[in-house]
Amino acid sequence: MAKPLSILFVSSEVIPFAKTGGLADVSAALPQVVRELGHDIRIIMPKYAAVSDRKFKIHDIKRLTDMPIQVGEKTFLGSVKSSFLTNIKTKVQVYFISNEQLYCRSDLYVDPKTKESWPDNDDRFMFFSRGVIETLIRLGWKPDIIHLNDWQSGLIAALLKTEYADEPLFKNTKVVFTVHNAAYQGVFPKESFVKTGLPAKTFKMDGVEFHGQVNLMKAGLMYADAITTVSPTYAKEVRSSKDFGYGLEEVFKKKARKTYGILNGMDETLWNPEVDKLITKTYSAETIEDKQANKKALCDHFKLPYDPKVPVIGIVSRLADQKGFDLIEEKLEDLMKMDLQLVVLGSGEKKYEDLFTKAAKKFKKKIGAHIGFDEGLAHLIEAGADMFLMPSKYEPCGLNQMYSLRYGTLPIVRSTGGLADTVEDLNAKPKTGTGFVFEKYQAKQMLDAVKRAVSAFADEKIWTAAMKRAMAKDYSWGASAEKYIELYKNLLKKK
Ligand code: ADP
Repeated sequence: MAKPLSILFVSSEVIPFAKTGGLADVSAALPQVVRELGHDIRIIMPKYAAVSDRKFKIHDIKRLTDMPIQVGEKTFLGSVKSSFLTNIKTKVQVYFISNEQLYCRSDLYVDPKTKESWPDNDDRFMFFSRGVIETLIRLGWKPDIIHLNDWQSGLIAALLKTEYADEPLFKNTKVVFTVHNAAYQGVFPKESFVKTGLPAKTFKMDGVEFHGQVNLMKAGLMYADAITTVSPTYAKEVRSSKDFGYGLEEVFKKKARKTYGILNGMDETLWNPEVDKLITKTYSAETIEDKQANKKALCDHFKLPYDPKVPVIGIVSRLADQKGFDLIEEKLEDLMKMDLQLVVLGSGEKKYEDLFTKAAKKFKKKIGAHIGFDEGLAHLIEAGADMFLMPSKYEPCGLNQMYSLRYGTLPIVRSTGGLADTVEDLNAKPKTGTGFVFEKYQAKQMLDAVKRAVSAFADEKIWTAAMKRAMAKDYSWGASAEKYIELYKNLLKKK
């Protein structure tokens, strides 16, 4: 093999340590596959309250204790700790940057009491960004690639190209910035600009300025050597309109030649019905009838009557506008007139939490809702439901539709982002279809797709064949990890 690469993977959440969404899944799975391919990849993330030293066998790195890190006028002390991801044969080292005041809180980004972002998120992630660079310098570790993810680490790209431009350690280092969701940009008032420590000349259109404010995602986009989005379709969408680019569409357009759409994969060590320890009965395409035991367990969990002939539709999601719940709200009564059941697991915006809590009370025999975050239940829904509904307004990649395919739980999705890249419509393509796809963001179109799904479900032969095709799809990380490695290597060839 050619010389292995050294890569630092920077993320604000990594499963099993901390997770709010798909970013955490990707941040564990991709590095592990890259490691298995023989590269020295290490991960760095903040040490939140939930990241328990004992549970995760985390230990201190003595020489990286109490590093003073300047954020504007404040100096915070950061200490670095270390542990490993051990799902694979070869371990992946994980560094944690800790500071009690900044990270020891009940939630990663949002105050659960107000449901608003923590007021000092600028301090928290500017500290993290500087901490990452200082950690590398003190370790004397020289990565070929620094792979940043989303706004929480965007500042690192700008700092490396300005304040640290002459730092010998990073002379040959290239920076990749991955956009997992362009709607969350880390925008802060202009007063926060001084906290970045960036030179004044970067506060401009061609820098980190965004309508008079500081935008940390823009910092990543403007200063990285390459940008990736988490699906090919999303790469085109973010430069197409404000509905996808959230005000950064012109920046995405300008950076189109540096931008690559690489589909996320799924972690087969965690999401595979043949070995999943969190479901009632494991199954494969050959033992597909064993999926029923999971359906029964799922209905029991939600105290819904179990009937193999009545399709169960699953939802596991952050309850955010992005995910299309207003379409479900609009057609809830129509859905409830159909012979189907709906199970929902999610948390997030209060209006959607209320929507599903109330609906579950009103339609006791048809809807089950669990408001909260529950990894085990998420797996049981994937295994037990017959269909999985994702009517997203936009979906950068989406992991749940891939998990659903793997579990033979046919997805009903809107044609956007990664959903468009992974699900083929069964009516349009009866021989190859794996789910039900609708085009326009309209409640009626969603309802029609559900109706098509329910009618296909009634034909056991058609349904079983589609389930088997879905289960045979390979959306594991292999091919996508190779694409990242190719991108890293191509960047390193450039002077
Ligand atoms: P996003 O990153 O936009 O939230 P993805 O589909 O990419 O959407 O990833 C969502 C991930 O988070 C999946 O692994 C999904 O199972 C998980 N998830 C979302 N909400 C919950 C919840 N309430 N309980 C358990 N897992 C959840």
